[in-house]
Amino acid sequence: VLAVQDLLGTTARQPAHRRRLRALVEQGTRELRLKNEALERSDREREALMQQLAWQATHDTLTGLPNRRAGDQRLDQAIAAAQATGAPLCLALIDIDHFKRVNDRHGHAAGDAVLCRVAATMGEFAERQAIFISRHGGEEFLACMPGQHLAQAEAAMAMLAAAIAGQQLRLDDGASLHCTVSAGVAALVPGQSAHALLAVADQRLHEAKQQGRDRIVAG
Ligand code: GH3
Ligand code: MG
Ligand code: MG
Repeated sequence: VLAVQDLLGTTARQPAHRRRLRALVEQGTRELRLKNEALERSDREREALMQQLAWQATHDTLTGLPNRRAGDQRLDQAIAAAQATGAPLCLALIDIDHFKRVNDRHGHAAGDAVLCRVAATMGEFAERQAIFISRHGGEEFLACMPGQHLAQAEAAMAMLAAAIAGQQLRLDDGASLHCTVSAGVAALVPGQSAHALLAVADQRLHEAKQQGRDRIVAG
């Protein structure tokens, strides 16, 4: 288009048909530019939408933590990597103690707020410690700890539990409370499936609850 404009020249003494032709070319150029801009805009919008969908597919809406699908996927990857390299791998199931009481006493919205605050502490801890924590369901979370032996994973979970217990949670109704968690920690043994490893962690979580809650059971 620029070359055509160049050929047409810019002098004011052009014959009328040349000026008409030139006006047509300029109009065509303008329209093309607008269409191009619209296309680029819709490309950017589509890209943003794709990113939003990818985030929604892998994150929990309430807490913003990775969701169960993402946690299961990460666990499968971590198990495959650990089986291939022989590196240690631990996981923990973490459950908020007596959470039903929070809902019963302060309402479901307050329960949601408490869940978000506890999840935020888990998210910050996971980032600092380079571990992966997802919302496994309800008030239960899954921590995946590649490279950690059982004693290290147990210590990490004790640190996380202390951070949660030390958090003062102020509610909209003026109440202030502290939450504790229980956790079951398990170390991968050669050839073990994700399902079997989770079952061990779940059994230990159950023991932690039976022993009175607010504790970590790792063996
Ligand atoms: P335990 O110490 O044995 O774990 O007792 P608990 O009360 O925490 O466990 P229970 O399984 O009896 O109750 C879990 C409660 O968590 C019941 C359920 O309504 C609540 N809950 C699960 N997901 C959510 C949520 O997204 N928001 C709110 N507000 N409550 C939730
Ligand atoms: Mg609970
Ligand atoms: Mg539970």
